[in-house]
Amino acid sequence: MRILVTGGAGFIGSNFVRHAIQNAYAGLEGAEIVVLDALTYSGNPANLEPIADSPRYSFVHGDIRDNELLDRLVPGVDAIVHFAAESHVDRSVRDASIFVETNVVGTQRLLDAAVRHGTERFVHVSTDEVYGSISEGSWTEDHILEPNSPYSASKASSDLLARSYFRTHGLNLSITRCSNNYGRYHFPEKLIPLFVTNLIDNIHVPLYGEGNNVRDWLHVDDHCRGIAMVLTRGRAGETYNIGGGTELTNRELTGMLLEATGKDWSYVDRVQDRLGHDLRYSVDITKISEELGYEPGVPFAEGLADVVRWYRDNRAWWEPLKERAAL
Ligand code: NAD
Repeated sequence: MRILVTGGAGFIGSNFVRHAIQNAYAGLEGAEIVVLDALTYSGNPANLEPIADSPRYSFVHGDIRDNELLDRLVPGVDAIVHFAAESHVDRSVRDASIFVETNVVGTQRLLDAAVRHGTERFVHVSTDEVYGSISEGSWTEDHILEPNSPYSASKASSDLLARSYFRTHGLNLSITRCSNNYGRYHFPEKLIPLFVTNLIDNIHVPLYGEGNNVRDWLHVDDHCRGIAMVLTRGRAGETYNIGGGTELTNRELTGMLLEATGKDWSYVDRVQDRLGHDLRYSVDITKISEELGYEPGVPFAEGLADVVRWYRDNRAWWEPLKERAAL
């Protein structure tokens, strides 16, 4: 099996590629992986270093919006796992253009290429943020889409396009919607790696508003295992929520990060809340659990301790990224 992984040099895509090459996923053993990645600010070849020498892995530097490139790459693959996206909400608040370009137009071009070349299987990786914000209970997959940020609106648009290619063209496609991920190789603009790298360097951290926003934190290993299950056994035309991590307010999470790095609340600066900041996300994972046997595996305390250790030990990975992005 030959799989095209778009955005495979990013945080989550690279986790999927490393595990697939290491034969961690049932049904994907021995698969060849072709990564297509534009290496934007968040794409990083260093994320793929551990498997870079594998004969089953190859890398193509390019853009999912490039039809000519897609016409060269897509005919040779059996499946596409589509991670490539602009992914940071704050950036979408400042300027939404590239979010529409990459997440909407890019997805449409990739879907068209899959139809043109008869790709047998397509997984579109999306987010729980497309559902909006929920104060109580959890979203099932048939909940209406009420995205609140330009990022989540662009992802919701790509989900609708993906669904339409199943209905209109019969593309064998499934959509995954996952909660907030954490883990190694996470770009240091995001909350957990930003706070950890700041705190170990005795730099203050910015907490939005009162810190009451609730997120369901799932280890990236669990997310990628869920994607592999959907790729190999998910039903065409279906959407699968992935989550079941640990729900925490940003204030609770900040307290845990302070403790893990031996700092106190004097290192926390309250900053003006993000515009349109969703209060709470929560996905119901009954469908993927019952149909595919998915359960989250990494306990949050263990996963977080590993992340803090990893950032302490891998300064050479994150320091240049923070410098370049002026974080
Ligand atoms: P990321 O920003 O770390 O990685 C995105 C990757 O896509 C980068 O390697 C980047 O270079 C590449 N890319 C961007 N534009 C491209 C283009 N035009 N052509 C080719 N490659 C391009 O993001 P991530 O956190 O790894 O997220 C990956 C996917 O998972 C996204 O679709 C995101 O919406 C989804 N998701 C993320 C989370 C999360 O918590 N981070 C949760 C649920 C879903």
